[in-house]
Amino acid sequence: MVIENKFDTNEVALIRKAINEWVVASDSDESLIFTEEGFNNPGEFTVYDWRKERDFGVIFKGFSTDIGYKQIVAERGGKHFRGLAGGGNDNILMVSDRIDSEELFYKIILHEIGHIHGLSHMEGGIMEPQVKRDGCIHEVDIKQFCEINDCGPNARSTCED
Ligand SMILES: [Zn+2]
Repeated sequence: MVIENKFDTNEVALIRKAINEWVVASDSDESLIFTEEGFNNPGEFTVYDWRKERDFGVIFKGFSTDIGYKQIVAERGGKHFRGLAGGGNDNILMVSDRIDSEELFYKIILHEIGHIHGLSHMEGGIMEPQVKRDGCIHEVDIKQFCEINDCGPNARSTCED
């Protein structure tokens, strides 16, 4: 995936940490999402076309003032969001002005990366539709993950580390 160059160094570090947390939880490098930071032309992608399927995924940084964001909210019947996976679950949109802490940013990116790995919403873990659990991968999350992805023998929740 390409991490849009609007993200600052700290946000990029949190994205990489979340990718790694899924690798640790699944005990498998197969869950590793290779990322590349930014691109040469900052205008290359916009929130308008964030759901387009491509040869590679993009992690977009958007704002609630973006027309693209407003369009999606309208399509969702006025339902706002902080993060969303789309484009055949290849892309992620992080709505930065609706995310007010590092902790929340981390929970949301962990959740959205779950979608990138094919996970659906489920109660009791990080895949709850309204992200409110600890910023770790719960038993229910890793169980769902391993049903659809390859996991190693030591796949586990990361919540008690
Ligand atoms: Zn979700």
